[in-house]
Amino acid sequence: MAYAIAIDGPAGAGKSTIAKSIAKKLQYIYVDTGAMYRAIAIYFIKNNIDPTDENAINKACEHVDITIAYLNGEQQVILNGENITSILRNEEVGKIASKTSIYAKVRKKLVELQRELARTTDCIMDGRDIGTTVLPNANVKIYLTASVEARASRRYKELIEKGESPSYEVIKSDIENRDYQDMNRENSPLKQADDAVLIDSSNIDLDETIETIIKVINENI
Ligand code: C5P
Repeated sequence: MAYAIAIDGPAGAGKSTIAKSIAKKLQYIYVDTGAMYRAIAIYFIKNNIDPTDENAINKACEHVDITIAYLNGEQQVILNGENITSILRNEEVGKIASKTSIYAKVRKKLVELQRELARTTDCIMDGRDIGTTVLPNANVKIYLTASVEARASRRYKELIEKGESPSYEVIKSDIENRDYQDMNRENSPLKQADDAVLIDSSNIDLDETIETIIKVINENI
């Protein structure tokens, strides 16, 4: 395995923004595993597969091919030959991804792809189970979290900046539901690996969080 940095944590903790920025600084590839769970969810949505029907999901998995490419350093997700990167980031896809990520078959397929990416290239990979399951021997493991309120108000501000009119209460309850689902599933639930460094960004800004993580990485290089 090449050098690997694992960042896990709940939805909205800022993992992807932070991991992307650190990857650029260190010239590592950034592997966004949430995007893979979103991509497979898009297949289920497009093919009208009930996210609660495990048999149907298992069958459908056999028709799904997900590959990862990089364009100007940005991860691209290719689903059955089609680049679907631009449609991954919406609330509905995130919700279905959280529902369908509970299944062993879905996880197995994506974990294999994630391990293969980390095998030959130095990477920073973020998700829910990277330090516990995907890369248990990662050189550095970070568990990045923040209070539900901090995560909800960041998301609220982001949507306001995009010109949308979100409800803070709806965002907060979506985050709580996603935390509950991700932390309480049977297969690879979200939890801090025993050897992960805990960083709570509720009261520190993005730059300070990045600085703290870089410090941890430098201590372990
Ligand atoms: O991080 P992101 O919000 O894109 O992830 C979408 C969903 O995919 C998560 O809520 C989680 O259920 C699932 N996921 C996972 N394991 C990962 C990454 C994401 O189960 N390593």
